[in-house]
This record gives sequence, C-alpha cells and structure tokens, in this order.
Amino acid sequence: MSTDLTTYENLLNAITVDDGAAVHDPATGELIGNTKMSTTAEVDEAVARAREAQKSWGALTHAERSAYMHKAADAVKASAEALAQVLAREVGKPLNGPNARFEAGACEAWLRANADFEIAEEVLVDDESGKAVINYVPIGVVGAIGPWNWPMMISIWQLAPSLRMGNTVVMKPSEHTPLSVQALIAVLNQVLPDNVLQVVPGAGDIGQAVSEHPDIDKIMFTGSTKTGQAIMRSAAADMKRVTLELGGNDAGIVLDDVDVDQLADDLFWGAFINTGQTCAALKRLYVPASIYDDVVAALAKIATETPMGQGVSEENVLGPLQNEAQQKIVAGLVEDARNAGATIVTGGNPDANQPGYFYPATIVSDISQDNPLVQIEQFGPALPIIKYDDLDQAIEWANELDVGLGSSVWSADAAKAREVANRLIAGTTWINKHGAIDPRVPFGGVKKSGMGLEFGVEGLKQVALPKVTAR
Ligand code: NDP
Repeated sequence: MSTDLTTYENLLNAITVDDGAAVHDPATGELIGNTKMSTTAEVDEAVARAREAQKSWGALTHAERSAYMHKAADAVKASAEALAQVLAREVGKPLNGPNARFEAGACEAWLRANADFEIAEEVLVDDESGKAVINYVPIGVVGAIGPWNWPMMISIWQLAPSLRMGNTVVMKPSEHTPLSVQALIAVLNQVLPDNVLQVVPGAGDIGQAVSEHPDIDKIMFTGSTKTGQAIMRSAAADMKRVTLELGGNDAGIVLDDVDVDQLADDLFWGAFINTGQTCAALKRLYVPASIYDDVVAALAKIATETPMGQGVSEENVLGPLQNEAQQKIVAGLVEDARNAGATIVTGGNPDANQPGYFYPATIVSDISQDNPLVQIEQFGPALPIIKYDDLDQAIEWANELDVGLGSSVWSADAAKAREVANRLIAGTTWINKHGAIDPRVPFGGVKKSGMGLEFGVEGLKQVALPKVTAR
C-alpha cells in the first residue's frame, strides 16, 4: 500500500535517506534530513528509463495527458500543507504571505492551466496552391535544471508544459533545495505513470551531466546567467533546444503623478517578495525628486513593520536568505553602498548573534546609478531607490544594464505609463505592479536574462517540435 503523503512527517520520510548530504533550515541551522546525491551513472539510467517511458507517454492524446495532469494537481492540493512545510524549512520562506503556501498553491494552478490550454493544428495555407499545416509534437526527454528560490514552482513551470506536450522529464534540483523538489515529485508520482517524471538530486556536476547528455533533447533551465551560458555551450554539441530563464536586475520607474500611499504596499512586495530572492523582483527603483522623500519614507515604514523570522512561525512574512553565500552578497552590496555615501534608511546591520542567514529588510536612498547595489543583482531584501529629475534619464538608466527580465512603470495615467513601458527593454513591463506572473501570459527575458518563453500556449510550443506538413 502506498504511503499517505499528505502529512509533513510522511512526506519527509518518503524523500530522505539515512546517509547522503545533510540539509539544514536556513533560519535555525537545524537538520531537516539527508538527501540522496546521484551519480552520473544514475543520470544515465534515469535518462534511459525516461526515453523508454516517452514512447507510451508521447503516444497518449492531449486529453489523456491533461487528465493525468489534473490528477497530479489534485494530489498537490491534497498535500499542499505538507509541501508548504517542506518549503518553510528548507528554503526558509514563511508559510504566510506570498511565500510557502502561496508557492504550493501556484503548483496546483500551473498544472491545471497547462492541462487546459488548447493547442490545435494551425492551418498556414489552404488554397488552390495546396494546404500547409503546423503541429507541435513531442521533443523527447527534457532535462530540467532549477534554482533554490522557488524550487517547487519553478519545477512546475518546467515540468508541466513538458509533460503536457508528451515529453518525459528528468529534473536536477539545486543542491540547496533538493528536498523541496523531491517532495513535489513524490506527490506527483503518486498518479503519473512510471518514469515519466524523475529526479536526480546532486550538485553542479549532475546538472552538467544532464545538460551534456546525448539522450536529452531539450534543457529547461532557471538560474544564473553564468550557468546558463555553460548550459548553452554544453547543449551545442547535440544541438539541444534550450529555454533559459536567467537572472535580472529589474528596474521600476515611478512617475510624478502617483498616490504614494496607495501604491506603497505593491511597490514593497514587488521588491521584497520571497525576501527579495525572486528573479523578476523589483531590484532598483527610480523615483522623481518631487515625491522622492515620500516614497522612501513609505517604503521604509513598511520594511520596518513587516515581520521577519523563521519560516514555520505563522506570524512571519519575510524570512532568511536561503544560503550563506547569498547573505554575503547582500551584506557586501549594502556595505559598499554605505561606504560610497548612500543612506541606509532602515535595515542593514544584521544581528551577528542571531542564528540563520537573516538580513533585515533594507531601504537605501541617496544612491547613484553607478553604485554596485544598483548595477549588480542583489537577490535579497535590500532595495536601492535612485532619485531622478528627468524621465528620459531614468529610462536610460533602466535600460543600460546587460540584463532585461522584467520592469515596471507606476503612474495614475494609463496612456503615459504605456508610453514609458514601450521604451523599456525587458521581456515584460508591468504597469502599477511588478512580477505579477500568470500561467496564461508568456514570460521570458531579453539580453542576458535568457531566451525563450515560458507559460501559456507559447510556453507549450517551446517544449515541442514544430512539424510542418504541406501538400
Ligand atoms: P546557479 O545558476 O549556479 O544554479 C542553478 C542550477 O544550475 C542549480 O541546480 C545548479 O546546481 C545547477 N548547475 C550548476 N552548475 C551547472 C552546470 N555547469 N551545468 C548545469 N547545471 C549547473 O545559480 P545559484 O543557485 O548559484 O544562484 C546564483 C545566482 O543566480 C543568484 O545570486 C541569482 O543572481 C541568480 N538566480 C536566478 C534565479 C532566477 O530565478 N532567475 C534563481 C536563482 C538564482 P547546484 O545548485 O547544485 O550548484
């Protein structure tokens, strides 16, 4: 009889091993459990099983695969609280706010959305010269390599469209969050056929083995630009398809007509969602001189009042950084800003006696465009607010970096906001919100923020091969 995976204890037991690598809670340092670490031989075995399983999975109809995906979504729903508990401990993200329970809920929503998209034959030509149609057929085996910040949700972004389109999937989670991904996959595999979805937990060498594997046909990757570049090089040998969702340094431009009090909360959460550890979070904010002090004060007030602490405590909505390396990056950038003369309005000064990788929610003002906290993605809870006098200058600053994932414009005037949005170079520009992703709306980066699109019907097409038939 299979185990009931709707409780945290059962789920943890199902995915941990007696030996293997220790995984700790980043808020407390407590041991959560040990994870299996795969060998490259096990990657080979998993890929061979995936290739075999793809034959029957790819032969199912869309309706049959969609039915499986709805059953998988039901399983996620039944285990949602247990999954959120794993996230709260391993990633450190609080249960409440746009964090662990939200992430478990998003997994269900993305599965259902991907199950329900319509992808039909497209007729390109149908006249006296003949008929040409395009269909989207399975690629084969997809290798999915993910990061540590939204480990379950990003895994779903990769696996849901891949499965829907008839591919099988081998996943390599970040070594920082292997349990979250294994927990999710254990839940999904209660209903999916054998070997359609597998996981090979391990370090970067296992990611490399996946991206170089000759029997993997497509790589879905989310992570840093540097690793994305390595994956492109590995993929070149076999001409693997790649979708790369890489880091960003999203700019937000506030116009001078906004009601600061009305927008302050959305600005704050645009930047501090998941304690700032989000690819498409607001990472540098440009504010006109006329309302600069008001915006800085409003955001500093929220930052000071928002509870931060251990993930499993119900009252918190901000948590620790997930790992020590990321904490050091954030702390170093804020100290450099302070030394360059910027004002740390609130935050900074982490408590050295507090266990875990906490860094306070930090607002930095009087900072110049060339400061490293503006130029480099902080990926944590420290927002630089840059004053501007001239909107053209702000747009130029927003566009001058070599990344372009998201961006946002904040204004009471819809036409004016749209005009500014059209001048920003980014995969997505949101208006009066930031990072508000939707499973129906394609998402992807430009410049060094990546290539390809995820979500929506466009996302399905990117995990399929276009097949033209013409007569
Ligand atoms: P990485 O790009 O290093 O890691 C992402 C994934 O790639 C992990 O599973 C990692 O495994 C794997 N990997 C590492 N080396 C290779 C390789 N040579 N071939 C294939 N896969 C490999 O990101 P980090 O987690 O180290 O984060 C670093 C920075 O990336 C952050 O500071 C942030 O700027 C950005 N980032 C962006 C994210 C986004 O959502 N766009 C998410 C997370 C980070 P392992 O973890 O075991 O090394």
